[in-house]
Amino acid sequence: MPVACADCGCLVERGVRVESCHRPDCCCEALPTRDDLDRVAAALRHALETRDLDQLGTLLADDVRWGDDDAPNRCRSRRDVLETFQRLVATGVTGEIAEVETGPAGVLCRLVVRWPESAPERRPEVVHLYRLQDGHIVEIEPHPDLDHGRTALSTIPA
Ligand SMILES: [Zn+2]
Ligand SMILES: [Zn+2]
Repeated sequence: MPVACADCGCLVERGVRVESCHRPDCCCEALPTRDDLDRVAAALRHALETRDLDQLGTLLADDVRWGDDDAPNRCRSRRDVLETFQRLVATGVTGEIAEVETGPAGVLCRLVVRWPESAPERRPEVVHLYRLQDGHIVEIEPHPDLDHGRTALSTIPA
């Protein structure tokens, strides 16, 4: 059941805004809207499955982050992320989205990955939390499994 925020009037259900109050002094701005989550989840699914990097690019914030600061192949911009996906696509990696869930933190995807014979790294699936802010993906956060991902997904951003 959605609950109306007592201060601004947004309708909120489990950390997601079902209906926005559209007031300039809205106090629920940090919470994603149902519309944004559904739009990004659908577009993300399409972009990843068809390997449409242009579409993927439109979903990313300029300064999107992927990977820890000490990771050798960390990404800190839309360009970094698209180049990384481009490299994967070029090696023949294909992916299929097995699961998509939305929550206060953004969009959670479980991807089944098919690696080419020559690939050094061959994890059969990856779980990514695509963190959303103002309708754009600001972070791609890898998780070891769906349970970890779900915990992060349902944590309401401060
Ligand atoms: Zn509001
Ligand atoms: Zn509010």
